[in-house]
Amino acid sequence: MAYELNEKLEKLVPYEPIKGIYPVRLDANESYFNISLSAKMQIIKAISEICFNRYPDPTSYDVCKAFADFYGLDVRNVVAGNGSDELIGVIINSFTQKGDKILTMAPDFSMYKFYASLSEVEVVEYQKSDGLVINPDDVIKMANDNNVKLIIFSNPCNPTSIGLERADVRRIIKETNALVVVDEAYMDFYTEPLITEVNGYDNLIVLKTASKAIGMAAIRLGFAVSNEKLTYALMAAKSPYNVNSITQTIGKIIYSDRENLRKATEEIKNSTEKLYNDLSKLNSKCGYPLIIYKPDTNFVFIKTERAEEIYNALLAEGVVIRNMGNFIRITTGTAKENKILLTKLKTILKG
Ligand SMILES: *Cc1c(COP(=O)(O)O)cnc(C)c1O
Repeated sequence: MAYELNEKLEKLVPYEPIKGIYPVRLDANESYFNISLSAKMQIIKAISEICFNRYPDPTSYDVCKAFADFYGLDVRNVVAGNGSDELIGVIINSFTQKGDKILTMAPDFSMYKFYASLSEVEVVEYQKSDGLVINPDDVIKMANDNNVKLIIFSNPCNPTSIGLERADVRRIIKETNALVVVDEAYMDFYTEPLITEVNGYDNLIVLKTASKAIGMAAIRLGFAVSNEKLTYALMAAKSPYNVNSITQTIGKIIYSDRENLRKATEEIKNSTEKLYNDLSKLNSKCGYPLIIYKPDTNFVFIKTERAEEIYNALLAEGVVIRNMGNFIRITTGTAKENKILLTKLKTILKG
């Protein structure tokens, strides 16, 4: 007898971020701020008071409340997840069934298609135009022509760094019958959130994460925000103890530190703008080998035929960025890290 993996598993490979130690990591869109010593001390004290023999709160109430207060929401509209990654999986798995179609976009966050393939739903893919913008008319038509049950996309988009205006997103929600999942992982850096409007729609879920602007990628914490009916359905569909007590405890402390969060986000926005301007200057000095998109996020997306070469040359110098075929994606780092990047990039582009 011989056991064989099924078709969908046979094709899968584990997610593998780059291994090894590199001094400058600009590849994962993380915040470059680590938390303050006083926040760390507060966390250590709070963790020491956890009842480790007990299961966590299945509703993650305290951390959902701190999150809701930070964004001006009602906690009854919030579900917490083990990273928003988990929530993407739960949503695709439970709001679609066999035979359904879902609409994703390209380029966009790869996890949507990954979970769709695990769920065995058919993916209809909207190809963004050359300028990497989303045309809402085309999305609406594609969704309705294919009778899709779910539309999922990131706004602003990872990897393009481009945001879509609220009015356009509202149209996609109103003019289709699909559940629309808007992944606002980077919305803290942009100005068009729909997170406070979820009660106005029967088909909107907004996803948020603690991994980017909040600077807490290590603790794995994400949120789904939607009307009470959808929230109830999600609560029922997720695994009961999906967010561990340590993460709930830390998350509550971090989201309550509102002033520092806002300050850090502002600083990251300013550094991203500076990085974009510096890259643009470098580009013009080198005869424009790059097409640089104006970022609405904490990273810069660049089209270039020299992506592979640039990636490898930077890696050899200890600087990690993301290589995506004809594109590269560079996360904003500290002023010092950005300077190192620009210096090395200059040598590569001039060479
Ligand atoms: C980073 C990122 C996430 C974050 O996922 P977590 O699991 O919460 O770390 C979600 N969506 C997009 C588009 C991202 O870039």
